[in-house]
Amino acid sequence: MGFRKAQARMLDQQLRTRDIRDERVIDAMCQVPRHEFVPRRWRKNAYDDTPLPLGPDQTISQPYIVAYMTEWLRPMQGERALDIGTGSGYQAAILTELGIEVFSIEIDARLSALAAKNLSRSGYPDVHLRTGDGHTGWPEAAPFDVILIAAATPQVPPELLDQLGEGGRMILPIGGSDQRLLGITRHGDRFEREPLLQVRFVPLKGLSEGR
Ligand code: SAH
Repeated sequence: MGFRKAQARMLDQQLRTRDIRDERVIDAMCQVPRHEFVPRRWRKNAYDDTPLPLGPDQTISQPYIVAYMTEWLRPMQGERALDIGTGSGYQAAILTELGIEVFSIEIDARLSALAAKNLSRSGYPDVHLRTGDGHTGWPEAAPFDVILIAAATPQVPPELLDQLGEGGRMILPIGGSDQRLLGITRHGDRFEREPLLQVRFVPLKGLSEGR
């Protein structure tokens, strides 16, 4: 099966028949060539209903989870996003496709370099990339309208809450072996928290390693 056909099948069978309703998100998932973000040996599986390995301890999330998190964030054209855990760059490309200015942090320098290549090759050269620990965010570019974390943490990093703008939305997997997505919306000094899907993400590095 060619990539176009596999991609069309992904949109129908993994997104539309589940609960993804935002046509802009479905459209973005139709525009971004996921196979360009997947390691060569997994390319034929790029549109499968599963996460795929990027390296030891790193995965590109399952398409449905990318769509779910993106939809929940209700991103609007012209907004700014902080994306923690660049990985392959796929999630950053989806947000860019929605007209968002994306700032993305990856702790693994090798993956940062790979994401930069994947993003420019696929037509998204404008994503701002940084290698470092996402726990501290990107203060110079704050506040953000949306913040997305693609690795699990036992608690919400406080610096990231500070960098969420008024009315801003954040989504992240909370927990260790038992994880759930948590959606957070900022209303002034109040942070409204909404528990969402059960998930399984790789752990966010750094905090538990002596910070
Ligand atoms: N969003 C990615 C998937 C990321 S998987 C994609 O679309 O492909 C989670 C990523 O988070 C991994 O690449 C991992 O190296 C990175 N990561 C783990 N801890 C981190 C930290 N403290 N700061 C930034 N990135 C981190």
